[in-house]
Amino acid sequence: MKCEICGRRAESRFCELHKRAQENLREKYEEWKRAMDITWEEYLREVLKNPLTGLWVKEVARILLASSEEKEAPSMQEKV
Ligand SMILES: [Zn+2]
Repeated sequence: MKCEICGRRAESRFCELHKRAQENLREKYEEWKRAMDITWEEYLREVLKNPLTGLWVKEVARILLASSEEKEAPSMQEKV
């Protein structure tokens, strides 16, 4: 398998680096959810808007957001 983001060889959907970024995202989401009422999608959008977010994490967030929006029309044409 290849990483969906960078095309590096991977054992699952993402390579090691992007997998780690995804885990970070999940952990942070748990924290956010405890502090406020926020959905996964809203959270991903906030992460993408945040200038402090690392590049790896942003790449993962963008992919996850895109796949969670498959049913809806893609309304965000963001240039990040
Ligand atoms: Zn990757």
